[in-house]
Amino acid sequence: MRDDFSQSVKDLLANRVGWKCSNPNCRKATRGAGVEKTNIINIGVASHITAASKGGPRYDENMTAQERKSFENGIWLCQSCSKLIDSDEMRYTVDKLKKWKDISEQLAVLELEDATVGKNDKDIELIRFYVQCFDRPAFRDRICMEGRMEDFDKAIEDTIIALNTGVLRTRDGSILKRAEGKSVIVNPEWREKFDTIYDMLVALRKRLRIAKKEGAYSTHGEGEVMYCFNDRNLEEWFNFTREEILKILFSMCEEIGIHGLRFPRDRYKW
Ligand SMILES: [Zn+2]
Repeated sequence: MRDDFSQSVKDLLANRVGWKCSNPNCRKATRGAGVEKTNIINIGVASHITAASKGGPRYDENMTAQERKSFENGIWLCQSCSKLIDSDEMRYTVDKLKKWKDISEQLAVLELEDATVGKNDKDIELIRFYVQCFDRPAFRDRICMEGRMEDFDKAIEDTIIALNTGVLRTRDGSILKRAEGKSVIVNPEWREKFDTIYDMLVALRKRLRIAKKEGAYSTHGEGEVMYCFNDRNLEEWFNFTREEILKILFSMCEEIGIHGLRFPRDRYKW
């Protein structure tokens, strides 16, 4: 007479280890999609720690039938590991199997946390780094107050590089590898926001090149150069676009609870 597990005990054993084999060296997934839409393939086995019937591996005659078919006496394994533990009971002892079960239950919880909190933490670290990259005059001054346009263009280019590679160029031109590029961001909404910011930065550089060719702005003064745009709308576009970039950045800062950067609100009065 075998003391088999009930379906609810089997389900509990599998669920508590996330449907993965409890052998810490295996950790194979035991459940997946079948060919039919309604079909599930299951290669997991609810194995007995002490055997279900007399003469089986690790059989304990002091246990009651109820104890033998209880959750405490089961371990969720893949088919090959369930054969493995029954092939050598000197090696796969009761203590060892209980340890496997305990480790696997803890791993299942850790993996849950890693999928949510852990990855989110990494995203937050990246956002902190990117915000630093935007903390420069090229995103603070109105376009007419920028120094040389070449420096402005360079600053935008450096910001694009920082977003794509996690490399930040310092003022003296040396290169610091501080983080990863935006493609490793896990949160899809944040990734989309950074992709949008990237597109807007590229547009700023392109529009600047066209403006230069067309002679859309003139410069005044020595040293502290001032810019004068012939086209007021174009000038406003440069201000507005950078303001929008910081707004998107700021929306993420608010979500993760850090201070964002603000574009100056005081518009030049004509
Ligand atoms: Zn296994």
